[in-house]
Amino acid sequence: MKEFVCIVCPRGCKLRVDSDLYETAVSGNACARGREYAIAEYTNPTRSVTVNIRVRGGTRRVVSAKTERPVSLAKVLPLARLAGKLTVDAPVKAGDVISNSLLGEKIVATSSVAKAENL
Ligand code: SF4
Repeated sequence: MKEFVCIVCPRGCKLRVDSDLYETAVSGNACARGREYAIAEYTNPTRSVTVNIRVRGGTRRVVSAKTERPVSLAKVLPLARLAGKLTVDAPVKAGDVISNSLLGEKIVATSSVAKAENL
């Protein structure tokens, strides 16, 4: 048995998942989306990883970025640690790919940093 708070909508239903070899039962959900959320959280929880990447020669020292898609929980910390070691050259535009394969995941800028003029 495992319990979750559904984050799909602001109602925040308290979900409970009971599972055995033959079936997975969800209770506490007020709608079908809650059931889908609970089963995904129970079987393969994923998260988007957001990080700040160092910028060389920019008007700001860091640019915000995130994984292109949600990743499994086991990858979150290793990805965040590795992303913290990346440096990108300015200019950076929102949507630019900063890394094509960091632990197999694409890291994409979510903001822009212009090139500094007086460096
Ligand atoms: S179960 Fe449905 S109604 Fe309840 S929080 Fe989740 S999405 Fe909202």
